[in-house]
Amino acid sequence: MNGHPEQRRPRLLAIDDSTMIHRLLKARLKSERLEIHCATSASQGVETARALLPEVILLDVDMPDMDGFSVLAELKADPHTHDIPVIIFSGSYDTKTKIRGLEMGAFDFVTKPFDVGELKARVRSAVRIRLLISMLAQRAQLDGLTGLWNRAHFDQRLREEVTISHRHGTKLALILCDLDRFKTINDTYGHPFGDQVLEEFAKILNHGRAGDVACRYGGEEFAVILPRADSREAASVAERFRQMLREHAWIEANDLVVTASFGVTDLETISEPTAKAMLESADQALYAAKTSGRDRVIEATQHTHSLKRTA
Ligand code: GH3
Ligand code: MG
Ligand code: MG
Repeated sequence: MNGHPEQRRPRLLAIDDSTMIHRLLKARLKSERLEIHCATSASQGVETARALLPEVILLDVDMPDMDGFSVLAELKADPHTHDIPVIIFSGSYDTKTKIRGLEMGAFDFVTKPFDVGELKARVRSAVRIRLLISMLAQRAQLDGLTGLWNRAHFDQRLREEVTISHRHGTKLALILCDLDRFKTINDTYGHPFGDQVLEEFAKILNHGRAGDVACRYGGEEFAVILPRADSREAASVAERFRQMLREHAWIEANDLVVTASFGVTDLETISEPTAKAMLESADQALYAAKTSGRDRVIEATQHTHSLKRTA
């Protein structure tokens, strides 16, 4: 990801062949909380938009190397730039041009020479929409009950982390865990209490190392991706989680001890560097933890996929 959108200044990319317009924009928008970037050609504009992922784009539709509408089409066709609001910035428009722009996904129009107040207001409105879209997109990847990342995020993230770690030769570990006899907890103490247990366990899983990615895999099953960790390090993190859960005091259920089983693996252990292989390996270790008595951490071991108990 590239920084929290709310924490840094929103970035505006102006794609316009006139450097005079660039200077003018920089001067006139100085007082705005914006970081201004410029591209002087259509092709450079598309490239910069992809690399920078700005919050808003001002696009001149009359440029020598490419028609501005082709730039708009390229930006809208790329899933990475699709949601960036584009304000068409041009000399004059007839209604037909405006309709064409809107149908292609343009967010707004500003006519040159521009009125500063109007430009500021339109840019602010575009940035607001962009931040709202980012927030909604992030929310769609969060689990409603626990606030952890959800399965959709996990699947995508594990694939990305496997690719990155394989490419750079860095370590990567995965913990898969499942609450023990959770059905009995629901049956005995009620579903709302069961939900509370899930929330508490999620808090514990969020106490890993900075940079670890805790996810709700589904139901009462969770996963933690540990970039730059090997299986041994991940097993000690899991062991800490296991103890924290087992020692947790449940106010509503005095003598209850809740436990979970953990399966751990890393990139070194698996036969091929894929998310699928990593998940299968962790799942086998988790299964072994369940069948050998629960409330334990099992590490998958290299190649043979035989399993060793670490706690
Ligand atoms: P095991 O030790 O083998 O994992 O046994 P278990 O009872 O934990 O496993 P099982 O898969 O049989 O049961 C899982 C239970 O988790 C059943 C389901 O109702 C419950 N569950 C799944 N999602 C939720 C949830 O969001 N809230 C609550 N309260 N319960 C849930
Ligand atoms: Mg379970
Ligand atoms: Mg289960």
